[in-house]
Amino acid sequence: MRIDILTIFPEFFDSLELSLMGKAQESGALAIKAHNLRDWTHDRHRTVDDSPYGGGAGMVMRVDVWTRALTDVLNSSAIKGRRVVMIPTPSGRPLTQTLAENLATADQLIFACGRYEGIDARFAELVAQDSAVELCEFSLGDYVLNGGEAATLVAIEAVGRLVPDVVGNAESLVEESHGQSGLLEYPVYTRPLDFSGAQVPQVLLSGDHEAVARWRHLKSLERTAQVRADLLQPGGKAHDSLSVLDR
Ligand code: SAM
Repeated sequence: MRIDILTIFPEFFDSLELSLMGKAQESGALAIKAHNLRDWTHDRHRTVDDSPYGGGAGMVMRVDVWTRALTDVLNSSAIKGRRVVMIPTPSGRPLTQTLAENLATADQLIFACGRYEGIDARFAELVAQDSAVELCEFSLGDYVLNGGEAATLVAIEAVGRLVPDVVGNAESLVEESHGQSGLLEYPVYTRPLDFSGAQVPQVLLSGDHEAVARWRHLKSLERTAQVRADLLQPGGKAHDSLSVLDR
């Protein structure tokens, strides 16, 4: 997968050289490039923003600069498949595991990181009208960040790890929180067996795979009911998992 990031802070993304994302770039599973939006300005001060029409506090990012940048980035790579323009915004759809799974099938993601009061609304409108790309306005949650960079980093990690060959052991993706069952993950343990009197649950030492699986499922249900009861409600992602209690 190819990932392009448009931002006024390209250095924000240096951390993508580390760990699994760094390895994925070395292996070629991911190709990530951060571009400086100011490279598409034409004035001495490399201005990307202006005051809002209608008045009010703060500055708005200019649609002309954003459009030039996006057009060049799209034209600079000859990607034929599915291309998605990702705009982080608190008024976007929530970034969920289901959305991340869907985005992991794209060939290219282009992130447009807003700052100040956000990007002139015409930018998203123009992207939505462009039949060569899809638009995805996404939100990390119901709070406001200073810029789209942190949200973009989170989205790249959530989506990138689902791209084939990014996570070495694909099995480790199967039983995670928010996976197929929709439940939160069960608790996990490793050595030492006894830590200052805190013991590992006996069932995990039993060698009885069925008993282990059942215990884990019940622990997942318990945890989900405690902290995310909404997932177990009718229509919630984990609702079907309640049927195990009938067995
Ligand atoms: N005035 C905007 C509003 O009230 O919706 C908030 C602008 S915010 C200070 C600047 C930028 O941070 C946004 O354009 C967006 O890129 C990013 N941002 C802030 N909160 C976010 C969130 N919850 N999810 C995704 N991006 C967010």
